[in-house]
Parts: sequence; structure tokens; C-alpha cells
Amino acid sequence: MTNDRKEAAGIARAVRRYLERERAGGAADLLADGATRAGRMPAPSDRGGRPALPEPATSVTTNLFGEPEAAPAVKINAPPATSVLDSPALDVFAEGLSPGGLAARAALAAEAVPVLAQIAAEVCACTKCGLCETRTQAVPGVGTARGGIVFVGEAPGADEDRLGEPFVGRAGQLLDKIIKAMDDAQLIPGLPLDRSTAYICNVLKCRPPENRNPLPHEIESCSPYLRRQLDALKPRIICCLGKFAAELLVGVKGTIRDLRGKVYRYQGAKLIVTYHPAACLRSASYKRPVWEDMQLLAREYLSD
Ligand code: URA
Repeated sequence: MTNDRKEAAGIARAVRRYLERERAGGAADLLADGATRAGRMPAPSDRGGRPALPEPATSVTTNLFGEPEAAPAVKINAPPATSVLDSPALDVFAEGLSPGGLAARAALAAEAVPVLAQIAAEVCACTKCGLCETRTQAVPGVGTARGGIVFVGEAPGADEDRLGEPFVGRAGQLLDKIIKAMDDAQLIPGLPLDRSTAYICNVLKCRPPENRNPLPHEIESCSPYLRRQLDALKPRIICCLGKFAAELLVGVKGTIRDLRGKVYRYQGAKLIVTYHPAACLRSASYKRPVWEDMQLLAREYLSD
């Protein structure tokens, strides 16, 4: 072997050893796909009875409907030694950002319970706008502050008005699928995601007749409830589903196409915008951007 070839072989061995070390420390995933993280992340093997994903999780990723997606060019996954959410870094309020660590979130969730109950009671008795005349019941919200993720939609529809819970109709079933796909893909390792660890609510707490768009005076009357819910929930990240939530919380007018793909701040939370699940029901072309937005949500949740 010539000296050049020996040197090249030595470099290759050193790179392999470096990647193996990084992989063992759980960082290779970040190195490999920081810009285009496409989905599946490792489950913690040592916590909460959640089994580790089979190794190697190298190629197949799924979209929000569980359909296989093209593999990213480079994908190296390995289970981290402990849950990412146990990292002390996620417990601190970096630049005022609400925590994502499991212990800190549990404490916040406990504190939020009575406050959310009080807001719900006020919402159910509210007569501030005309929607109380036509609603069957008000729909305050569902879930907890445990996960630190809040999904904010537009307004209850017929099913929500009947059952008193947000996102239980067709759009809601799709939202459930999106959340389940995030959970299945372990986008936030160590955080089980469902209706009980996230919080789901709307800009308007009462159904507009015939599901018409919310009117400005209705948003003005109702939005203090949402803002108080967000104060109590202290989310790490808020996901605005559709134009009405986005325009209210981002504070600018615009299309979802313009507003999505960016990270905003709402008090101690990061905030992202995506298409309303109802838009995905109307056109499948929104599915992929929504899934990309959920990946953005997870990345932002996990970073300061
Ligand atoms: N659409 C919404 O925006 N919210 C719901 O609760 C249901 C459908």
C-alpha cells in the first residue's frame, strides 16, 4: 500500500470511530439530518415502558398518514442513553422559553389544572357574544400542560358543539392521526403524544352557525379565554391550525402559505403555523407541508 493509500485508510478508520462515538452518544441523528430531519427518532429504551425502536432505523420514514416516505440521504439513528426530556438543558427557561423537561412540565401541568377548570367554567357560562344563543354547549378545550404543546384551531363545528370537546369530527380525527404519527415517529423522544399530553382548543369556544367564519367581534370577545388558557398552560410550543389562530396569535394578517415554515414567539412559547386539518381533507396536497411543519415543531421543541 502506498503512503497516500495508508493515510486515506487511516482517515476513514478515524471517521468511522468518530461516528460510532457520536452515535453512541445520541448525537449522530442531529449531525445526520439537522436540516432535513424527516421523521423517525429513537425511543428511549430505559423509561416509561416504551420499547426502543428496532435498530437500525436507517431508511423508512412515514408521512402523517403512516405511508412510507422516501428515505433521507443520510440517516443514522441510535437510542440515546436517556430520554432527551430528562436533559437538564430542557428544564431551564432559556431566554424565557417555557421548559420541556418532564419534571418541570409535570409541575406546570399540576398548577394549570385549577386555572383551566376556572376558565372552562367561565366559558361554559359565557354570554359575551351572540354565539351563546345558537350553541348547544361551549367547547373550552381538552388535554393538559404535561407535554407543553398546544394546538389551536378555529372554532367548534357541529360534532364539537354536540359533544363539548374540540376536534372530534372529521377534522379532529385527522388531527388525532397527525398527533399519533408524531408519536409513532417519536419526533419528540420520550414524550408520549396524545390528547392527554397535548392541549387542544380553539380561538372561538362556541360554534358559529353553519360553521361560518368567526366574526371580528366574536374573536375579540372570545380571545381573552384563549390567552388565559395559554398563560396557564405555559406551552413550550404552540401550533396554530389555520388562518384564524395564526392571525390572532402571530398578530399579522397573511395566508398560511406565507406564515408557515417560520418560528414565532408567543410569550414563553415558540409558535408555528400550519394548515388546518380541514384543508387537508379538502386537498391532499396539504398533507406533506403539514408533516414538515410537525417536524419543525419537534425540532423547535427540542432546541433552545
Ligand atoms: N375545526 C376547528 O377549528 N376546531 C374544532 O374543534 C373542530 C373543527
